[in-house]
Amino acid sequence: MGETRYEAEVVVVGGGPAGLTAAIALAGGGIPTALVTGQPRRTDNRTTALLAGSVAALEALGVWERCRAEAGALRTMRIVDDTDRLWRAPEVRFEAAEIGLDAFAWNIENRHLADALQGRAAEIDQLVRIEQDARAADISDGHIRISLADGGSVTARLGVAADGRRSLCRAAAGIETDSHGYPQTAFTFNLAHARPHGDISTEFHTAHGPFTLVPLPGLRASLVCVVAPVEAARIEALGGDALDAEIERRSHSILGKVQVEPGHGAFPLGIEMARRFAARRIALIGEAGHVIPPIGAQGLNLGLRDAATIAELAVAARRAGDDVGGEEVTDEYDRRRRADVKSRTAAVDLLNRSLLTDFLPAQSVRGLGLYVLDRIGPLRRAMMREGVAPRLSEPRLMRGEAL
Ligand SMILES: Cc1cc2nc3c(=O)[nH]c(=O)nc-3n(C[C@H](O)[C@H](O)[C@H](O)COP(=O)(O)OP(=O)(O)OC[C@H]3O[C@@H](n4cnc5c(N)ncnc54)[C@H](O)[C@@H]3O)c2cc1C
Repeated sequence: MGETRYEAEVVVVGGGPAGLTAAIALAGGGIPTALVTGQPRRTDNRTTALLAGSVAALEALGVWERCRAEAGALRTMRIVDDTDRLWRAPEVRFEAAEIGLDAFAWNIENRHLADALQGRAAEIDQLVRIEQDARAADISDGHIRISLADGGSVTARLGVAADGRRSLCRAAAGIETDSHGYPQTAFTFNLAHARPHGDISTEFHTAHGPFTLVPLPGLRASLVCVVAPVEAARIEALGGDALDAEIERRSHSILGKVQVEPGHGAFPLGIEMARRFAARRIALIGEAGHVIPPIGAQGLNLGLRDAATIAELAVAARRAGDDVGGEEVTDEYDRRRRADVKSRTAAVDLLNRSLLTDFLPAQSVRGLGLYVLDRIGPLRRAMMREGVAPRLSEPRLMRGEAL
């Protein structure tokens, strides 16, 4: 077999959910696009709570109809202080109906979302998928060239880096990141349970991080359980009845008897953010641009907003006869994504730190904040609206509009 040689206008590197969404949006908008997917990765048992804007975008892209039956509605969010500390916050409930929404989010297993995205990508003529790893990225003479594992290459005018945390494209663009770790590990489990969840997601705030149950269709839920590293080794060693009992104890039996399904994920938590979101013909999307802890279901929702934004800008540039990878596009992309990514990262960081701290005033401020949210309706509703959709810089796809 010979080397792959391909010319496109845009090359997307990375076939995770952010990369697939960007490729579908770009090619669906009429831009010849190559998607370098990399080798199939290990199984991901995570789920994603897709906020209303993400669902609207997936609907507009013809993806949602392929997977909506697999998603569970999240209509009520409960936050319960489970810290045993002196200053404990009151329980707070947020109802989607209070801000006129059917649901805050739809929770879906990543494997079902990936199947739906791959199925839709295969239908689009302007999209060519190359199932190889990118080995290098070079930028010169108004082009980006991606070298492939088989010795071939893809050339394009814009590179969309969706190649995750250790992004090769980000390094090629010379973009540095700022990062810090937390003394926390997040376990992901899926489970069957005896009592109906009633479309309620419950987040227990413990002294080591959140323990969050999110509804899936039927009598199933996903769980993200954040623990200190010393606890992580103990949980990792549990299995069978002992693990079921541990999870039921930590969930205060609100879902009755639980049965943990085989397989789990374990993720050391931290924050990492690129100093710019685009430079030198490369735009960073998803975890290539930002990694945040799984609090408040923001990570991939931000990644999908990145994908929708770069597609909107590139499609508009092409229709105007401009360079899709020119500085007008990349600078505008950086500008549009900055406030959204930074403000959400800062909010998640603050919330996580306020849980971990033993500093009494910080605990009381957090407790007071939740108390105020519980009591003051307009403030609570404003926060709920901002949590599900940013006021600023919402791309058109997130409003359900085609490109
Ligand atoms: C415990 C946990 C729970 C979470 N829950 C939520 C949630 O409820 N809601 C939410 O919005 N977010 C959530 N997130 C965040 C979300 O999972 C991530 O934001 C998302 O998976 C990142 O997708 P991505 O496409 O950017 O990156 P990835 O999924 O990492 O995809 C990157 C892809 O690039 C490929 N790749 C890498 N290098 C190369 C190369 N050289 N050549 C070709 N391909 C390459 C990889 O194989 C991979 O397929 C959670 C995260 C964690 C850890």
